[in-house]
Amino acid sequence: MDPLVKGGGVRTLLGDLNWTARGACLELAPDDLFVQGAAQRSARAVCQGCSVRLECLSDALDNRVEFGVWGGMTERERRALLRRRPEIESWFDHLVVAGEPPELAH
Ligand code: SF4
Repeated sequence: MDPLVKGGGVRTLLGDLNWTARGACLELAPDDLFVQGAAQRSARAVCQGCSVRLECLSDALDNRVEFGVWGGMTERERRALLRRRPEIESWFDHLVVAGEPPELAH
């Protein structure tokens, strides 16, 4: 198994520091993920098929990113998740290394 491919040892242990280059939102305008109301649904839909969704979501959660849709979750959803799971110190470890999908992280 290629250690640099998802699921490989090196990638799992060290993470993929280059994940931002593979985001499905790269083609979007910078403001498209910083929307409110019904427009957030469209923004979240972009994330659903993104191959680096868990990396993105864990980065937003670990860094307490306050605004925008990241990893398929709005800022409000992330705040709620952080309140529900205060015991989690590293969302990267929880979501990416352990591979727990965000749907199960509550
Ligand atoms: S999960 Fe969403 S915000 Fe994050 S990189 Fe992918 S498309 Fe962009």
